[in-house]
Amino acid sequence: MTTGVWILGDRLDEQQSALAACADRRTTTPVIAIESLGFLRDRPYHGQKLVLVWSAMRHFVAELRSRGWPAQWREGEDFESVLRPWIAEAGIDRLLVMAPTDRPFLRYLLDLQKRLPCALEILPCNHFMWSEAEVLDWLRDRKRPLLEDFYRAGRRRWGILMDGDGPKATPTGDRWNFDADNRKPPKSGLKPPPPLTFEPDAITQAVIDKVNQLPDRGIQPWGDVTPFHWAVTRSQAVAVLENFIEQRLRDFGPYQDAMVTGQDTLWHALLSPYLNLGLLRPAEVVQAIAAAHRDRGDLPLASVEGCIRQILGWREYMRGLYLHLSGPADAPTAYDQSNWFDHQRLLPDFFWTGDTPCNCLRQTLTQVRKTAYGHHIQRLMILGNFATIAGIQPQAVESWFHSAFIDGYDWVMQTNVLGMGLFADGGRLATKPYAASANYINRMGDYCKACPYDPKQRTGPNACPFNFFYWDFLIRHEERLRSQGRMALVLKHLDKFTDADRAAIADHAETWWAHQA
Ligand SMILES: Cc1cc2nc3c(=O)[nH]c(=O)nc-3n(C[C@H](O)[C@H](O)[C@H](O)COP(=O)(O)OP(=O)(O)OC[C@H]3O[C@@H](n4cnc5c(N)ncnc54)[C@H](O)[C@@H]3O)c2cc1C
Ligand code: SF4
Repeated sequence: MTTGVWILGDRLDEQQSALAACADRRTTTPVIAIESLGFLRDRPYHGQKLVLVWSAMRHFVAELRSRGWPAQWREGEDFESVLRPWIAEAGIDRLLVMAPTDRPFLRYLLDLQKRLPCALEILPCNHFMWSEAEVLDWLRDRKRPLLEDFYRAGRRRWGILMDGDGPKATPTGDRWNFDADNRKPPKSGLKPPPPLTFEPDAITQAVIDKVNQLPDRGIQPWGDVTPFHWAVTRSQAVAVLENFIEQRLRDFGPYQDAMVTGQDTLWHALLSPYLNLGLLRPAEVVQAIAAAHRDRGDLPLASVEGCIRQILGWREYMRGLYLHLSGPADAPTAYDQSNWFDHQRLLPDFFWTGDTPCNCLRQTLTQVRKTAYGHHIQRLMILGNFATIAGIQPQAVESWFHSAFIDGYDWVMQTNVLGMGLFADGGRLATKPYAASANYINRMGDYCKACPYDPKQRTGPNACPFNFFYWDFLIRHEERLRSQGRMALVLKHLDKFTDADRAAIADHAETWWAHQA
């Protein structure tokens, strides 16, 4: 009986369950990784995302070979047309694959299981701290799951930033949450440390060449393929983690929500591409950050806690909710079609071109085109916020995010874009929409200083679109939003609006779109 292992592009870890199951016979276990072109025909992925995933796969295969595994990568139009001849050549009777987190791909595998000429065994995913069964149990038991409860359960379970042991353990610093000490507006002259970057080696350069030639094969990626500076191996990803802890973690908290022109990353960790590919394990990241806090003594608890909350809290929670809200693996999900506000406006072209006078949007969209990265507040309070208040169709927005970002996968996009970013799920994830006027953007960043619009004007010739869209959004959905308790205070402002105010706001919104055509 010959057992083979199929490595999916985001399972690049020797400890992943399919490889781990064969570790004691590694030299005789055929291993394959496949670069499939077919899925690139569904949407234009960012060129740097393609380079990252394929280069990381090729490097991973090379690492496995150096450790004795007979591993190889192959390219094909689709997975099946590569798997079939390989299974025959290697005489494989049993093929192991670690389950993908993305539901559409899991459904594809369940279907493929029926067709392949050998047994296809889908092993549980071990790329998150909570197993799938554990996180689903936790969520199923709660009427109204909350990130805060989930996060505290994780802190207790793994003893992260806890003093003492067992049920009597208390959170370090006697508080679970230091958000109040974080999230400061940026001061002028902020100088974040430059991110750790890498020059392409021969493997990466070969992938860059392949991506540049995709148009000849009828595939048109989006965004700038070069300069490409992302890490593509586990050792480089570990270096990014160490660099983050050494140089960026101290100020991560205070400027977590800041937006500064020309400062693409500020003090953010830049770890999501590597966590999502399996090059870094979430437990090692969380433990390294907690250990640095314990051992170094100069890292503010607010920054450390704020960062651990993102990974042990938000990241695990979003993946759990995705699984929970998607329902059974073998049935189509309804969550991805969520559109609570019934927003139907087409995605404007400037999401692809960056060509808009709104400076906050232009800066963010241009940055994403150049780097495939935007930090959380750019994603949430510029892009998601604009799409929400301007009424853009949620599935078009989700699809754009999926195309544009280096770290985008179905499991992390559905809940982040539809749930957190757009409130398209009507509050299954967030307790109120992240909708804001220019006031927030002006307070938390410097984009407004170089914008032709006036962030203080709601109507009038220079009125900021974030202002009239914000109020237009509240007016259009007033009734619906009244069901969301946390919106009561903000909706009270509408009581002061005259019919003429309301009409002027609606007119500004309509006229703005007419000028985009
Ligand atoms: C509209 C929208 C779209 C998003 N799309 C993605 C996406 O495609 N892929 C992705 O990994 N994250 C996504 N996020 C979450 C978050 O914005 C990114 O994880 C983060 O910006 C990645 O950059 P960083 O590593 O510098 O993160 P930091 O800000 O330094 O945070 C540290 C780590 O925390 C984790 N994290 C923080 N918040 C979240 C979250 N809400 N969900 C999941 N992980 C989180 C990430 O692993 C991240 O690397 C999205 C958020 C929003 C609002
Ligand atoms: S004025 Fe409005 S459009 Fe311009 S940068 Fe500020 S928030 Fe964005």
